[in-house]
Amino acid sequence: MDDLFLKIIEGKIPSEKVYEDEHTVAFLDINPTNPGHTLVVPREHYENIYDIPDAVLCHMMKTAKKLAPSIKSTMNADGINIIMNNDPVAGQMIFHAHIHIVPRFDGDPFRHWKGTPYKEGEIEEVGEKIREELSLK
Ligand code: AMP
Repeated sequence: MDDLFLKIIEGKIPSEKVYEDEHTVAFLDINPTNPGHTLVVPREHYENIYDIPDAVLCHMMKTAKKLAPSIKSTMNADGINIIMNNDPVAGQMIFHAHIHIVPRFDGDPFRHWKGTPYKEGEIEEVGEKIREELSLK
Protein backbone atom coordinates (compact mmCIF):
# COMPACT_ATOMS: atom_id res chain seq x y z
CA MET A 1 0.00 0.00 0.00
CA ASP A 2 1.47 3.32 -1.05
CA ASP A 3 0.21 5.84 1.50
CA LEU A 4 1.87 9.25 1.30
CA PHE A 5 0.34 10.50 4.56
CA LEU A 6 1.56 7.41 6.47
CA LYS A 7 5.05 8.25 5.23
CA ILE A 8 4.57 11.81 6.52
CA ILE A 9 3.33 10.51 9.89
CA GLU A 10 6.33 8.20 10.15
CA GLY A 11 8.69 11.06 9.23
CA LYS A 12 9.87 9.33 6.03
CA ILE A 13 8.70 12.34 4.01
CA PRO A 14 9.22 15.86 5.37
CA SER A 15 6.23 17.92 6.44
CA GLU A 16 5.44 21.00 8.44
CA LYS A 17 3.69 19.40 11.42
CA VAL A 18 1.72 21.72 13.67
CA TYR A 19 0.07 19.23 16.06
CA GLU A 20 0.26 15.58 17.13
CA ASP A 21 -1.58 13.46 19.67
CA GLU A 22 -2.21 9.77 20.27
CA HIS A 23 -4.71 9.44 17.41
CA THR A 24 -4.08 12.29 14.94
CA VAL A 25 -1.38 14.35 13.26
CA ALA A 26 -1.86 17.76 11.62
CA PHE A 27 0.48 19.31 9.07
CA LEU A 28 0.40 22.14 6.56
CA ASP A 29 -0.94 21.36 3.07
CA ILE A 30 1.94 21.65 0.61
CA ASN A 31 -0.32 23.32 -1.97
CA PRO A 32 -2.59 25.50 0.17
CA THR A 33 -5.86 27.10 -0.83
CA ASN A 34 -4.70 29.87 1.49
CA PRO A 35 -1.62 30.00 3.76
CA GLY A 36 -2.24 28.07 6.98
CA HIS A 37 -4.32 25.40 5.15
CA THR A 38 -3.88 22.38 7.43
CA LEU A 39 -4.66 18.66 7.08
CA VAL A 40 -5.76 16.55 10.05
CA VAL A 41 -5.08 12.84 9.54
CA PRO A 42 -5.52 9.70 11.64
CA ARG A 43 -2.35 7.81 12.58
CA GLU A 44 -3.65 4.59 10.98
CA HIS A 45 -4.62 4.05 7.37
CA TYR A 46 -8.28 4.52 6.44
CA GLU A 47 -9.28 5.62 2.97
CA ASN A 48 -12.10 8.03 3.67
CA ILE A 49 -15.54 8.50 5.27
CA TYR A 50 -16.70 5.02 4.18
CA ASP A 51 -14.23 2.89 6.13
CA ILE A 52 -13.17 5.13 9.00
CA PRO A 53 -14.42 4.03 12.44
CA ASP A 54 -16.71 6.53 14.21
CA ALA A 55 -14.29 7.02 17.11
CA VAL A 56 -11.39 7.89 14.78
CA LEU A 57 -13.48 10.36 12.77
CA CYS A 58 -14.69 11.94 16.01
CA HIS A 59 -11.11 12.34 17.14
CA MET A 60 -10.14 13.95 13.82
CA MET A 61 -13.02 16.39 14.20
CA LYS A 62 -12.00 17.13 17.80
CA THR A 63 -8.50 17.91 16.56
CA ALA A 64 -9.91 20.15 13.80
CA LYS A 65 -11.98 21.98 16.43
CA LYS A 66 -8.93 22.39 18.66
CA LEU A 67 -6.76 23.78 15.84
CA ALA A 68 -9.27 25.95 13.94
CA PRO A 69 -9.30 28.96 16.31
CA SER A 70 -5.49 29.05 16.52
CA ILE A 71 -5.11 28.77 12.74
CA LYS A 72 -7.72 31.50 12.28
CA SER A 73 -6.04 33.90 14.70
CA THR A 74 -2.46 33.09 13.61
CA MET A 75 -3.29 33.70 9.95
CA ASN A 76 -5.51 36.69 10.73
CA ALA A 77 -8.24 34.93 8.77
CA ASP A 78 -11.88 36.00 8.58
CA GLY A 79 -13.29 32.46 8.54
CA ILE A 80 -12.49 28.77 8.28
CA ASN A 81 -13.80 25.97 6.06
CA ILE A 82 -13.71 22.41 7.39
CA ILE A 83 -13.81 20.04 4.43
CA MET A 84 -13.50 16.31 3.74
CA ASN A 85 -13.32 15.13 0.12
CA ASN A 86 -14.48 11.55 -0.51
CA ASP A 87 -13.95 9.83 -3.89
CA PRO A 88 -12.12 11.30 -6.89
CA VAL A 89 -15.21 13.02 -8.28
CA ALA A 90 -15.45 14.95 -4.99
CA GLY A 91 -11.81 16.03 -5.25
CA GLN A 92 -10.13 13.31 -3.18
CA MET A 93 -6.57 12.82 -4.42
CA ILE A 94 -4.95 11.18 -1.38
CA PHE A 95 -6.58 8.00 -0.11
CA HIS A 96 -5.65 8.37 3.55
CA ALA A 97 -8.62 9.98 5.29
CA HIS A 98 -8.11 13.67 6.09
CA ILE A 99 -9.94 16.81 7.09
CA HIS A 100 -8.93 20.12 5.53
CA ILE A 101 -8.86 23.23 7.74
CA VAL A 102 -8.86 26.13 5.29
CA PRO A 103 -8.43 29.73 6.46
CA ARG A 104 -10.63 32.13 4.47
CA PHE A 105 -10.17 35.84 3.87
CA ASP A 106 -12.71 38.48 2.89
CA GLY A 107 -12.42 38.87 -0.87
CA ASP A 108 -10.33 35.75 -1.47
CA PRO A 109 -11.02 34.18 -4.89
CA PHE A 110 -12.45 30.90 -3.63
CA ARG A 111 -16.19 30.41 -4.12
CA HIS A 112 -18.71 27.97 -2.77
CA TRP A 113 -20.43 25.73 -5.31
CA LYS A 114 -23.74 27.07 -6.58
CA GLY A 115 -27.04 25.56 -5.52
CA THR A 116 -29.75 24.54 -8.00
CA PRO A 117 -33.33 24.48 -6.69
CA TYR A 118 -35.23 21.17 -6.89
CA LYS A 119 -37.99 20.75 -9.44
CA GLU A 120 -41.59 20.43 -8.21
CA GLY A 121 -41.92 17.30 -6.02
CA GLU A 122 -38.27 16.30 -6.39
CA ILE A 123 -37.11 17.15 -2.85
CA GLU A 124 -39.74 14.83 -1.32
CA GLU A 125 -38.77 12.04 -3.75
CA VAL A 126 -35.05 12.33 -2.94
CA GLY A 127 -35.76 12.53 0.81
CA GLU A 128 -37.92 9.38 0.60
CA LYS A 129 -35.22 7.45 -1.30
CA ILE A 130 -32.51 8.35 1.24
CA ARG A 131 -34.75 7.48 4.20
CA GLU A 132 -35.56 4.14 2.53
CA GLU A 133 -31.87 3.36 1.93
CA LEU A 134 -31.05 4.29 5.56
CA SER A 135 -33.77 1.99 6.89
CA LEU A 136 -32.10 -0.96 5.10
CA LYS A 137 -28.82 -0.47 7.00
P1 AMP B 1 -7.60 15.77 -1.21
O1 AMP B 1 -7.71 16.38 -2.59
O2 AMP B 1 -8.79 16.07 -0.35
O3 AMP B 1 -7.27 14.29 -1.28
O4 AMP B 1 -6.41 16.51 -0.49
C1 AMP B 1 -5.09 16.10 -0.58
C2 AMP B 1 -4.25 17.28 -0.18
O5 AMP B 1 -2.96 16.81 0.13
C3 AMP B 1 -4.10 18.32 -1.31
O6 AMP B 1 -4.64 19.56 -0.87
C4 AMP B 1 -2.60 18.38 -1.52
O7 AMP B 1 -2.13 19.69 -1.76
C5 AMP B 1 -2.06 17.82 -0.21
N1 AMP B 1 -0.74 17.21 -0.31
C6 AMP B 1 -0.29 16.37 -1.27
N2 AMP B 1 0.98 15.98 -1.00
C7 AMP B 1 1.34 16.60 0.17
C8 AMP B 1 2.53 16.62 0.97
N3 AMP B 1 3.62 15.92 0.64
N4 AMP B 1 2.53 17.38 2.09
C9 AMP B 1 1.43 18.09 2.44
N5 AMP B 1 0.29 18.11 1.72
C10 AMP B 1 0.23 17.38 0.61
